[in-house]
Amino acid sequence: MPVARALAAACLAVLLAVTGAGPAPAQPSPDEETSLERDDPAHLLAVVTKQVPISPLDYEPDDLVTWPGTDYRMRAEVREQLERLFAAAREDGHGLRVISGYRSYDTQAGTYDYWVRHYGRAAADATSARPGHSEHQTGLAVDLDSTTGECYLEQCFGETAEGQWVAEHAHEFGFLLSYPSAARALTGFAYEPWHLRYVGPRVATDMHERGVLLLTSYLGASASSARIGELLGSRG
Ligand SMILES: [Zn+2]
Repeated sequence: MPVARALAAACLAVLLAVTGAGPAPAQPSPDEETSLERDDPAHLLAVVTKQVPISPLDYEPDDLVTWPGTDYRMRAEVREQLERLFAAAREDGHGLRVISGYRSYDTQAGTYDYWVRHYGRAAADATSARPGHSEHQTGLAVDLDSTTGECYLEQCFGETAEGQWVAEHAHEFGFLLSYPSAARALTGFAYEPWHLRYVGPRVATDMHERGVLLLTSYLGASASSARIGELLGSRG
């Protein structure tokens, strides 16, 4: 009966409004692919390093959103997963904040030029990516800090309780540390415990379980190519 049904729906709406209960935020089960894993694995796993530029050089993701309360931008799924990471950290008593996100080619060019002008090219290359070579241009990279701010963009962030929590749990939400201390010679970047790169929960967890630190090593190992195909439906 339409009237009864409408009444029931109205009652439910009131009940939901009163209790504050709404549909729970979509929590993809571990068996479920995320949208980027399913629809955009090429960008999700794109390698951007000192040697390998982003392609095309002026690439800009079309789904950038801002992090609440800041001007920092990142791809929509990155924000979703980072919100989960922050919530889990908070439950364990750790406060985190975002201190950088997406950077355009032009922004990176300005940053790199600043370093070159003030400190010389060698120092600039050790610290700042050349334009087109920053993971931040993918919209998949973020820099984090603890809410105490005691080790803002400093390596001691890795020793704080927050930094250790991030290193231990980032993979569960699809993130990895792009510049771990153990791989400095390979990345050409100093240890950056604050820099996280999103690759999706499947690849991040697989890398973590297999003890592979760098995405380049993971993608380069022939044994893992089949594995990635298996993980991401062989569209990567
Ligand atoms: Zn960074």
